[in-house]
Amino acid sequence: MTDCIFCKIVRGEIPADKVYEDEYILIFRDIQPAAPTHLLCIPKAHIASAAEIDDGNVDLVGRVFVQLAVVAKDLGLGRGFRIVTNCGEDGGQTVGHLHFHLLGGRQLIWPPG
Ligand code: 5GP
Ligand code: ZN
Repeated sequence: MTDCIFCKIVRGEIPADKVYEDEYILIFRDIQPAAPTHLLCIPKAHIASAAEIDDGNVDLVGRVFVQLAVVAKDLGLGRGFRIVTNCGEDGGQTVGHLHFHLLGGRQLIWPPG
């Protein structure tokens, strides 16, 4: 999608600190980290939010979780981590391209605000 920040990152039009990339997904560091490790994992295809996950893209979403588990292990998050996706206005979503936050490296508080 032309105006989407994360699509621009996928196309290389905006730089990102990439941690993992394949044909389907991209993992990069959040520009405003909320924890010592704060990554974003996105499908390269533009999906607006978790509200648009369906039978047609479930494999893509599965790949996100598989690779986040690998990256979390590689980055030494053996004590634990959190994967979260904010959806829509009430969910606090600010970028309209499906993304999963991976947070770790400190004790995380629950429930979040
Ligand atoms: P949301 O608020 O939609 O759940 O998460 C969007 C996240 O994207 C935020 O944590 C924000 O810091 C991050 N973000 C926004 N723009 C950029 C950018 O241009 N580059 C990177 N690496 N992260 C971004
Ligand atoms: Zn997009």
